[in-house]
Amino acid sequence: MIRTNVAVVGAGLSGLYAAALLNRAGRPCVVLEARDRIGGRILSVPVEQPAGNGRYDLGPAWFWPDMQPRMRSLVDELGLAAFPQETEGGVVSERSRSGPPQRYARGFNTEPRSMRLVGGMQTLVDAVARQVPTGTVYRGVQVTAINHGASGPVRIDAVGDSEPLTVMADTVILALPPRLIAATIAFSPALPDGLRSDLAAVPTWMAGHSKVVAVYDRAFWRDQGLSGTASSFVGPLMEIHDASAPEGRPALFGFVGFPASSRRAMGPEQLTRMTLAQLVRLFGPDAAKPAAVFVADWAEDPHTATSADGQPPAMHPDYGPPAGRIEIDGRRLILAGTEVAAEFGGYLEGALAAAIAAVAWVAAG
Ligand SMILES: Cc1cc2nc3c(=O)[nH]c(=O)nc-3n(C[C@H](O)[C@H](O)[C@H](O)COP(=O)(O)OP(=O)(O)OC[C@H]3O[C@@H](n4cnc5c(N)ncnc54)[C@H](O)[C@@H]3O)c2cc1C
Repeated sequence: MIRTNVAVVGAGLSGLYAAALLNRAGRPCVVLEARDRIGGRILSVPVEQPAGNGRYDLGPAWFWPDMQPRMRSLVDELGLAAFPQETEGGVVSERSRSGPPQRYARGFNTEPRSMRLVGGMQTLVDAVARQVPTGTVYRGVQVTAINHGASGPVRIDAVGDSEPLTVMADTVILALPPRLIAATIAFSPALPDGLRSDLAAVPTWMAGHSKVVAVYDRAFWRDQGLSGTASSFVGPLMEIHDASAPEGRPALFGFVGFPASSRRAMGPEQLTRMTLAQLVRLFGPDAAKPAAVFVADWAEDPHTATSADGQPPAMHPDYGPPAGRIEIDGRRLILAGTEVAAEFGGYLEGALAAAIAAVAWVAAG
């Protein structure tokens, strides 16, 4: 049994940042994470490099420092190296199966600037995790029940890799998608009327999506004056961008346009074959021979998505605290995670904003 002041459920960016802020404020805390890794939706994977240690983002890759003050400050404070998304060169557009893709000599610069991190977005969570004392984060520990009935500490029950774990905490910060809170954690007493259904109704941002990264030995698209940006109504990828690691190999990435049910039916091998055939149509025969291909299907990941996320929302949802409140039971249960952020909900910036708001509630207690 572990006794602590604050228990944070979820070691995504929001939970880890909350833990770092709590640590800075002198509040003892533990972080309970279901996966055997930290980062949640942030996942940057390495490939064997001829030199350097490039990593490729299968989750978020971009932040927008010109309009996201928390991300800008944190990246600066942690001394992380950022660089702009590659947009220099022509773009390709594939409108139908009946004709060849169209090439346009000039692309467009996105405003505000989309920025990436050297080493991938994982560099950010790794650096935030270094701000909490060793032993704070428990991996492979899935919270299944929270008992906040009696006065005194809240009891958290979790299934560990090897054995069950119980944590007693004065305050619990729930830094995981609202839908997962509603679907996977049994509360005793039950959550207040309507709150469980409100939480279950919040779509987890990007949870229904799949991303493919193809890593190459040479940026052959640049030889043709192309930036790597492409759009397609044919698929599998509907939106493609350069994903090259400045310290590693060049790469392209794309979001898959097929729904989760079709992806499940075809499996990752067929999806990879179809994706490479599409990249050949768009960028030429060199695209057929990647050094590595990664497919991440977030809809299949139970620590991100539920079956309700198979149909992603068409528009960016209007996120925020459910019924305007992040505290569920006085200061004993507090919501965090990007989907409850008062602004920039769904984004990395929102994950930070939600952590700051949750820790402010704890500190006020
Ligand atoms: C493909 C993709 C692309 C994206 N692109 C961008 C982008 O370019 N820019 C941007 O700003 N945002 C982007 N996003 C969104 C961004 O990833 C999220 O805003 C951010 O990572 C959310 O962080 P979080 O900590 O709130 O949640 P999460 O990262 O989901 O963290 C929640 C954590 O809780 C853990 N957990 C779940 N259930 C339990 C349980 N019962 N017990 C214990 N732990 C549990 C999970 O394993 C996870 O680690 C993208 C997301 C995806 C999937």
